[in-house]
Amino acid sequence: MKLVTYRDNEGRARVGAVQDDHIVALPAVGSMLELIEVGPDAVTAARRALLEPADSIPLSGVKLLAPIPHTPKNIMCVGLNYLEHIEESQSASARPDVPVFFTKPPTAIAPPESEIPYPTATRELDYEVELAVVIGRRGKNIPRDEALDYVFGYTIINDITARDLQRKHGQWFKGKSLDLTCPMGPWIVTTDEIPDPGELDIISRVNGEVRQQSNTRHMIFDVAEIISSLSAGMTLEPGDVIATGTPSGVGMGFSPPRYLQVGDTVECEVQGIGVLRNTIGPRE
Ligand code: MG
Repeated sequence: MKLVTYRDNEGRARVGAVQDDHIVALPAVGSMLELIEVGPDAVTAARRALLEPADSIPLSGVKLLAPIPHTPKNIMCVGLNYLEHIEESQSASARPDVPVFFTKPPTAIAPPESEIPYPTATRELDYEVELAVVIGRRGKNIPRDEALDYVFGYTIINDITARDLQRKHGQWFKGKSLDLTCPMGPWIVTTDEIPDPGELDIISRVNGEVRQQSNTRHMIFDVAEIISSLSAGMTLEPGDVIATGTPSGVGMGFSPPRYLQVGDTVECEVQGIGVLRNTIGPRE
């Protein structure tokens, strides 16, 4: 099932399920976080609503928000998780022994199909398509072989990065955290539709030109390993989002670099989920 957060006619954020090219409203659900916290019962209720849709709206007629417009904690991200991306990154040369974690704040989250203003704080704005995991159950010290039981579903993140700030500030946080540099969506796909997150084609395009093209099987640390490693001594909560790293083909990897420009359209696609599309707006 594909679950969306969207803005209704009165401007309120609502949760719905996607059926073909329509959204079936789930009026009993206050927010995506609430739905995830309630868990399987809420998913069952949503499925029932799809069978007897009382309130169906064309997808083309609504403004989607990020499926989780404000995450409970920072979006947690894995860096350097595809070998060929490590090779194209000037900052690192060795394959990491453990996942490299960093975060992006909730203020960076942006809706699908939105315009991302080019931040004046940077001159080197770059794209990174990533499969993102949405945690469904609270857990700590999660064993690798149970890790996928803690997943609610999957979405797509564009881990937009200010490369100059990433280099200048040493630690990655600043260059990864500018406002609206974490487009998320267009929806969350529940795990029943993606039994194996380790076999998904992952692609990005800028103005229609393919820039990144790989498969999640090429991750150095797979989804189960990432959850197990991150949850060691640190509680994961329902609604937490983990971005699992990007393959090669980012703008930084070209010679000369091909960073994003005002007016560019970026599409991030993951098999079984969909396409997350954003445009780069004027400098702001
Ligand atoms: Mg990334």
